[in-house]
Amino acid sequence: LTTLRLLLGDQLNPEHSWFKHVDSEHLYTLIEMRQETDYVLHHAQKIISIFSGMRALAQRLEVEGHRVHYLRIGDPENTQTIEGNLKALIAKHRCIKFEYQQPDEWRLDAQLSSFCHALSIPSEMVSSEHFFTERLETAELFKTQKQWLMERFYRQMRVKHRVLIDASKKPEGGQWNFDHENRKRWSGTPPEPVDHTRRHDHSSLWAEIQAAGVSSFGEPQCNTFRWPVNREEALDDLERFISDVLPYFGEFQDAMSTQSWRMFHSLLSFALNVKMLSPQEVVAKAETAWRQQRISIATAEGFIRQILGWREYIRGVYWFRMPDYQDSNHFAHDTPLPTWFWTGKTKMQCVSKAVGQSLDHAYAHHIQRLMITGNFALLAGIDPSALHRWYLGIYIDAFEWVELPNTIGMSQFADAGLLATKPYVSSAAYIDRMGDYCKGCYYDKKLRVGERACPFNALYWDFFIRNASALSGNHRLGMVYRQIEKMDTESKTSLQSRAFTIRNDLDQI
Ligand code: FAD
Ligand code: SF4
Repeated sequence: LTTLRLLLGDQLNPEHSWFKHVDSEHLYTLIEMRQETDYVLHHAQKIISIFSGMRALAQRLEVEGHRVHYLRIGDPENTQTIEGNLKALIAKHRCIKFEYQQPDEWRLDAQLSSFCHALSIPSEMVSSEHFFTERLETAELFKTQKQWLMERFYRQMRVKHRVLIDASKKPEGGQWNFDHENRKRWSGTPPEPVDHTRRHDHSSLWAEIQAAGVSSFGEPQCNTFRWPVNREEALDDLERFISDVLPYFGEFQDAMSTQSWRMFHSLLSFALNVKMLSPQEVVAKAETAWRQQRISIATAEGFIRQILGWREYIRGVYWFRMPDYQDSNHFAHDTPLPTWFWTGKTKMQCVSKAVGQSLDHAYAHHIQRLMITGNFALLAGIDPSALHRWYLGIYIDAFEWVELPNTIGMSQFADAGLLATKPYVSSAAYIDRMGDYCKGCYYDKKLRVGERACPFNALYWDFFIRNASALSGNHRLGMVYRQIEKMDTESKTSLQSRAFTIRNDLDQI
C-alpha cells in the first residue's frame, strides 16, 4: 500500500515534515525531465546545479532509510514529462494515493492540479513549509487598496513575525527603513571575500545532460562553480556570509565595480529558491548578528527587507496576477533582444560586464539586473516577454514566481505600475555615480549625441519623450518632464535622432 510523493527540483528541503518518520508506505520520487530543462533555454550551471541538488537529496533520503525512486535524464524508462512518469510509477507500484508539495510556479501548479483531477486514486497537495506568507495573503492585505505598496506589506510582516521589533512593538533602531544610509559607492577595489565553498566535479553529470540532448548556454564550469549541492553546504555559505560579507552589504548594496562580480551580495538566492535554506533561518541569523552587535541596524534592516519584504511581496504579486501577468506590455515594446545578450560582446562596458559575468557565473547582482541590463532593455524598447525568457534562463536563482514580477513589473514597468511606482531607468549619470564602469568605456558618459555618446543618455530622454502620454502624469516624474519642457526643439530632435540610430541597430553598439 504505497503513497507516491513527488519532490520537484526546487523542493530540496531535507527538513520538510514529510521526512520526520521513516516508513515503507511512502515512495519518494525525484525526476530529471526534458519538460523542465526545455521550457526555456537554460544556463548550463542552472541545469547542473538543480540536478546535482536533486541527486544529493535522493541519496540522503535513501541513507536515512526512505524509499526513493530516482529518474535520471538519460534513463530509458524516463518519459520526460511529469504526467507520463507519474502515471508509470503509480501503475508500477500500485499506489493508492499521490501527494505533492505546493509548487511555486503557476505552470506546474496547473499541470499537477489537472493531472490529479484525472487520477483514479486520491491525491493531496501539502505545504512546502517554506515561505513566511501564503500565496494569496498579500492580495488579501491589499484587497481594499488602489495601490499596492511593498513598504506597507513589509512593516506588517515585521510586526507579524516579530522581526527587528522591540518590546513595545516599535521598529528596532527607531525607524522602519534605513535605505538612505544604504546607497554608497565603493571606491577602489572591493575586498573580495575568501570563498570557502566546496567545489565538486560535475563533469560526468554534465556529460549525461549533454548525451540526453539538452540544449543550454553559458559556461558550464563543471569543476569550479560555487553553487551548493546540499543543505550543509548552503548553511556553511550562510554562516560565512553573515560573518565575512554582511557587514559591508548594507551601505554598499547598490554599488557596482569592474573589480568584483558579487560586491557584498549574499549569493544565497539559489539555496533559498530550491529550499535548501529557509527564509526564516536566514532572517533570524541576520537579526542575531545585529543583536550581538556584529552588524549595524541599517545593515541588518537592509538585508532583512530583501527577504522578508521583497521576496515575499514579489511572490504575492505573482499569485495575484497570474496567468495574465506574463503577457503584460504597457508600452507595447516589441524590439527583439540584441545578439550580445547571448555573448556579452557590446562596446558598452557596463552591459558587457553584467552580461559577461552572467554567462560565466549564472549570476549578476540586483543592481546589475535592474540598472544595467533591465534599464537598457526598457530604454531600448525590448519585448518584455523575450527579456523575461532571457532572465528566466540565465540566472541560477531564476524560477518564474520570483523572476517574472521582477522583470515584468519592477524592471520593465510592463504592468503599468503595480510593482514599481515609476520606471527604474537612468542615464549614464547614475551608473557612473554607483560604480567605475564608465572609466575606460568606449563611450563617453557625458555626451548625449554623436557616435561616442553613451547610448543610455539619448535613450533615456527619448524614452520619456516617447512615453509622455503614459508617464507625464506620474508625480514622481515631475522633475524629468520639467527638464524636457525646458529643452529647445533642436536638442530634443537631436536626442531623438541619436536614439533612433541606436534602436535601429542595437547589435552594433
Ligand atoms: P542579495 O542581494 O544578497 O539579497 C539577499 C536575498 O534577498 C536574495 O538571495 C533574495 O532571496 C532576496 N531578494 C533580494 N531582492 C529581491 C527581489 N527583488 N525579489 C525577490 N527576492 C529578492 N531573484 C531571484 O531569486 N530569482 C530571479 O529569477 C530573479 N530575477 C530578477 C530579475 C530582475 C530583472 C531583477 C531586477 C531582479 C531579479 N531578482 C531575482 C531579484 C534579485 O536580483 C536577486 O534575488 C538577487 O540578485 C540574488 O542574489 P543574492 O542572493 O546575492 O541577493
Ligand atoms: Fe555604460 Fe555609458 Fe558608462 Fe559606458 S559610458 S559604462 S555605456 S553608462
